[in-house]
Amino acid sequence: ASMDILELNQLCKDVALLFKHQLNQRQIHLNAHFDQVVYCLGNACQLKQVLINLIKNAMEAIEESGHITIELTKRTNTAVIHVTDTGVGIPEEKLSTIMEPFYTTKQTGTGLGLAVTRKIMTNHDGEISAVSTMNKGTTFTLKLPCHPPQS
Ligand code: ADP
Ligand code: MG
Repeated sequence: ASMDILELNQLCKDVALLFKHQLNQRQIHLNAHFDQVVYCLGNACQLKQVLINLIKNAMEAIEESGHITIELTKRTNTAVIHVTDTGVGIPEEKLSTIMEPFYTTKQTGTGLGLAVTRKIMTNHDGEISAVSTMNKGTTFTLKLPCHPPQS
């Protein structure tokens, strides 16, 4: 897949917009926090798919109403994206399993979303991790090398 210099702020906004209608139909508020402009080298379609997968899971984790937050920050040479939801949470002992292909707790789930997500992140020399508190919510953290490398 082709790699381009991507402005991650715009990419996050583009994905958030895709969910606008669905979120409006439910009582879910999506907030985006960007503290600065961050670039990385990547495939826009694949990285959008990563965010789509995480936001979709976040929506599915929220039973009635709640919040989803996308936060983009920059550390030395690393773009960090947090996707946080106020959903049902993931049991501690399942955190290491959720990214395996075909693991799902949903009636009609494929269990492929996070497996694909992890694969895409690895292909971008990036990382994905999750922390969660039952009945409180979950945060997925994405890390990608910034572009240009030294800044
Ligand atoms: P699917 O959504 O088809 O089940 P995924 O790979 O996207 O497959 O997710 C695997 C499983 O991880 C889900 O079935 C769910 O149990 C858990 N999960 C993923 N994201 C969240 C989340 N934000 N909150 C709670 N559970 C989650
Ligand atoms: Mg999913």
